Amino acid sequence: VTTLVPERRAHASDVLDELHAWLEEHWSPELTVREWWERLGLAGWAAPSLPEHAYGRGLSAGDAVRVLHGIREFGALGPPAGLGLLLAAPTIAAHGTQDQIDRYVRDIVTGRTMWCQLFSEPAAGSDLAGLRTRAVGDGAEWVVDGQKVWTSGAQVAELGMLLARTDPDAPKHQGITFFAFDMRQPGVEVRPLREMTGHAVFNEVFLSGARVGDDAVIGGVGNGWKVANTTLAHERAGLGAGGAGAAGAAVPGSLAGYLDRRAGDLAAARMVTGTGDLAPGSGVLIDLARARRLSADPVVRQGLARLYTMEEVARVMGLRARSAPVPGLPNIAKLSKSAMLRHTRELGLHILGPAGMLHAYDPAQRAVLDEVTGDARAGDVTEAALLAPGPSIYGGTDEIQRNLLGERALGLPREPGPDRDTPFRALPPNG
Ligand SMILES: Cc1cc2nc3c(=O)[nH]c(=O)nc-3n(C[C@H](O)[C@H](O)[C@H](O)COP(=O)(O)OP(=O)(O)OC[C@H]3O[C@@H](n4cnc5c(N)ncnc54)[C@H](O)[C@@H]3O)c2cc1C
Repeated sequence: VTTLVPERRAHASDVLDELHAWLEEHWSPELTVREWWERLGLAGWAAPSLPEHAYGRGLSAGDAVRVLHGIREFGALGPPAGLGLLLAAPTIAAHGTQDQIDRYVRDIVTGRTMWCQLFSEPAAGSDLAGLRTRAVGDGAEWVVDGQKVWTSGAQVAELGMLLARTDPDAPKHQGITFFAFDMRQPGVEVRPLREMTGHAVFNEVFLSGARVGDDAVIGGVGNGWKVANTTLAHERAGLGAGGAGAAGAAVPGSLAGYLDRRAGDLAAARMVTGTGDLAPGSGVLIDLARARRLSADPVVRQGLARLYTMEEVARVMGLRARSAPVPGLPNIAKLSKSAMLRHTRELGLHILGPAGMLHAYDPAQRAVLDEVTGDARAGDVTEAALLAPGPSIYGGTDEIQRNLLGERALGLPREPGPDRDTPFRALPPNG
């Protein structure tokens, strides 16, 4: 990540001193979320790793994480949650014009807009470059038709990072364009999909005759694959770090309903979005094991020791990734996060026993779970168990992370295929 944005070298303690002094002067729990994010974003503290001309402070990734923790420790409300800050802002900062940075990034850092990621399609997930949603030029606009799927947050997003095919005669990876796309217009239909956790985080999005202007093309027509790779690099880095790269306690945008709430009420809350802090850690499972008189059980002890070890390795890997970019490390961090979550599922359900079958989303079942275990965090364990397959899929599946490690970090040969030179139009479906 650090290679993608210019850095201003600064001493970590200087940065935290400056942050602290700024918070003393500007934070008040009485502000509305809208007022607070306006201050935080325009001062460059919401996305401090962005360059200064893109509403950041040009800090290193490591210092940016320290700033995030510093805001929380101070007791103030953190920056806006979601994919705008995590993905759209750094992508537009890297590839957009100054006018686009002022139009889009300003509203992201101040929490005015919520973004979604319109990448995956029914036949283009791992094979993202095979996408078939098309945008056809019409004067100074483009007309968009197609279908996206698994679009997290689309139901409350004002804008989407849209990948569409603008030149079917070009080879697969070359005829794609990245647009900043207005979600609130005729021709956009969002249909929520309910997950087994009970939440409906992601959606199908149908696009028919929707429109987007030339001035919303990010990084040039036909250059979308390169722009999307910037987005994906930030996604891997954020997910490997636990998805917490941009997870705050409030959702941005006017549709989510947080902007006019009192900032102080949300400052202490933990956001359970399915993409924030994904699972209870070893500390919670140790407490549950003790309460259920399983702390002497050798299998449980071994499982807890393994989870603790995984957490420590992930922590050290995170520190390493933040101090200097290492090829392949974000892929390894994401793989290990997925493995950790699967292990938490097995161990957590083993500790809970039959109570682990109770569904935390259902208030009546959650009440029974709380009563049986005597610990309100048991529901987080069963919810995380149902969420566990997700991180192995989103942001690139485990198999794709391994392919990327092989090809990009280890320099192994690419998978063979004709798709690099053949016009997209001539490829068989899913070719
Ligand atoms: C919770 C969740 C949230 C999501 N949010 C978003 C979102 O907001 N926006 C968005 O655009 N997408 C989103 N996605 C979609 C996600 O990016 C895709 O599901 C993912 O890229 C996999 O694509 P697919 O589902 O089409 O599976 P497929 O690509 O069909 O893969 C099926 C299986 O084949 C394997 N496979 C495929 N190709 C290869 C290969 N070359 N080598 C080895 N194995 C291979 C895969 O690893 C997988 O096991 C989300 C997914 C989930 C689960």
